[in-house]
Amino acid sequence: MNHLSPFPAPANPDTGMTLRVLGVQLDLDASDQELRLRAIQQAGVQEQDVLALHWARRSLDARRTRGILRFVCHVDLVMRSSRLTSSLKKAMRSGKVREAPARDTLTLPPGPGLKNKSSVVVVGSGPGGFFAALTLALNGAQVTMVERGSALEGRHKKLVPFHRGGSLDPDTNLLFGEGGAGTYSDGKLYTRVQDSLELAILEELVAAGAPESILFDARAHIGTDRLHRVLPALRARLIEAGGSIQWETRFEGLVIRGGQAGGRERRIAAVRTSRGEIQCDALVLAIGHSARDTFEVLHGQGVVFEPKPFQFGVRVEHPQELITRGRFGDLLHAETLGPASYNLALKGNESVLGSHSFCMCPGGKIVASISEPGMLCTNGMSNAKHSSPFANSAVVATVSPDAYATYGQGPLAGLAFQRHFERLFFEAGGGDYTAPAQRIPDFLEGRASRGDLHSSYTFGTKPGRIDQLLPPDVRQALARGLTRFDRQIEGFAGEQGLMVGLESRSSSPVRMPRNRDTYTALGFSNLFPIGEGAGYAGGIMSAAIDGARAAHVLLRTRN
Ligand SMILES: Cc1cc2nc3c(=O)[nH]c(=O)nc-3n(C[C@H](O)[C@H](O)[C@H](O)COP(=O)(O)OP(=O)(O)OC[C@H]3O[C@@H](n4cnc5c(N)ncnc54)[C@H](O)[C@@H]3O)c2cc1C
Repeated sequence: MNHLSPFPAPANPDTGMTLRVLGVQLDLDASDQELRLRAIQQAGVQEQDVLALHWARRSLDARRTRGILRFVCHVDLVMRSSRLTSSLKKAMRSGKVREAPARDTLTLPPGPGLKNKSSVVVVGSGPGGFFAALTLALNGAQVTMVERGSALEGRHKKLVPFHRGGSLDPDTNLLFGEGGAGTYSDGKLYTRVQDSLELAILEELVAAGAPESILFDARAHIGTDRLHRVLPALRARLIEAGGSIQWETRFEGLVIRGGQAGGRERRIAAVRTSRGEIQCDALVLAIGHSARDTFEVLHGQGVVFEPKPFQFGVRVEHPQELITRGRFGDLLHAETLGPASYNLALKGNESVLGSHSFCMCPGGKIVASISEPGMLCTNGMSNAKHSSPFANSAVVATVSPDAYATYGQGPLAGLAFQRHFERLFFEAGGGDYTAPAQRIPDFLEGRASRGDLHSSYTFGTKPGRIDQLLPPDVRQALARGLTRFDRQIEGFAGEQGLMVGLESRSSSPVRMPRNRDTYTALGFSNLFPIGEGAGYAGGIMSAAIDGARAAHVLLRTRN
């Protein structure tokens, strides 16, 4: 497995240019040396001109062309000089090589462009809030991060009784508390956002104990168990940088100065919390997509919200072996590559919505990711080794504001839609967080499932008519998608495929629109809505990047 270890980072990246060699194909058992030779050959450069070489990206090509699985790698070559030889120019023209993209750091160069913010409050300790707070603190701002839920140790203690049948704590649960919604997750770190801050964030995670492979693995993940060792180290990093944290402190409202009379923007002077008022010069709101009570408070105080399309469907679960066989052809490769994952999609047309898989957790488990009692919503998590015998993912359709407008009034109608169906599923499961479940063939045929519906779901399942509980357009989209996915992974829509519902919080139903350049909320001069709850991210990495980027903008703007 030598070839899976990262190459050493360049000793002095300023020496010459860094080239990115794209799409180097590699057998699964190829050595470092083989990759090195291929990359150098593809770039058309001389070995002695290469100072250092390291992974930029490694993904698995699981299409099994001629029955073979391969890695496809991007490799960065740090060159002695920036001279473009004719063979290098030729390789660049062919598109196989280009200059490596620029990368940013969390710390900004000091100088007059950097505004001294004396105090910034960040609400929410999820990846968005955390990386906003850390970036601000590293650049000298005085930061207080406020989190309604408990720090990790307390969060865990409160979750144990809930999972044993106790009541749900609306402030500390699977969605709220240190680390935010992703703390009990697969910790997948891939994002479709190619951003110059991505590497700086991944490096913070590695320094806090995440494996180095996350720096280049296209399907990087940390896993809940390892994430729980990383989070305390990140917390220590923020405190060391000068930030302070207030756990179990709920943000309850804005203290606003100024008005819109004469077109002047309003200004936040302080925030009201469950532990008193905190004065601030700027406020970063990183509350995630499930803080419905907080959305309502903000809406009531004049923060602008827009409804947005969001994902809605169920979790599907299979034996992991079925997925691994379907993807790799046999189980042998799983020893080297780990259990297989998938990413499936079927486009919609004029009459049917599209559907797709999302947040796939190989070797994982289904959990109840809820923050309000009397409602049911599921999601997936896994440990670092992906060791459970189950594979689950969300299979969802995207519902539009038009489709849910009748469930509630104004821009928060999507919340009413989510609550309606979460209640329906909760009741159909018997009112104790047991989830309604249906085998996929029964869902497709419109009949109840019989017998034991074995699932990894924490609270267990009982037979339910998911085909009747879902809105008809979502039911139709999922049926069409599942039938197609069965052609891509044999047995996907067969007897061993189980649907467990509901999955209603894969993305946010609202956006808090903000100025493109200043990142400030409409009508406010110093309010920065960020991350998934503000509608600007969809996942751990994109939320973290949005947080760090917003911090940079805040530090460069006089508010
Ligand atoms: C079970 C599960 C598994 C997931 N798996 C993955 C995965 O593998 N990979 C991936 O990329 N994404 C995953 N996600 C999604 C990912 O967790 C989110 O996209 C991400 O956490 C969003 O980050 P955020 O900082 O915007 O918000 P959040 O992480 O939701 O953080 C918001 C924080 O704000 C706090 N808060 C809310 N209201 C208040 C208030 N009034 N006062 C004080 N604090 C408040 C909350 O307690 C919370 O801690 C998963 C989500 C869940 C639920």
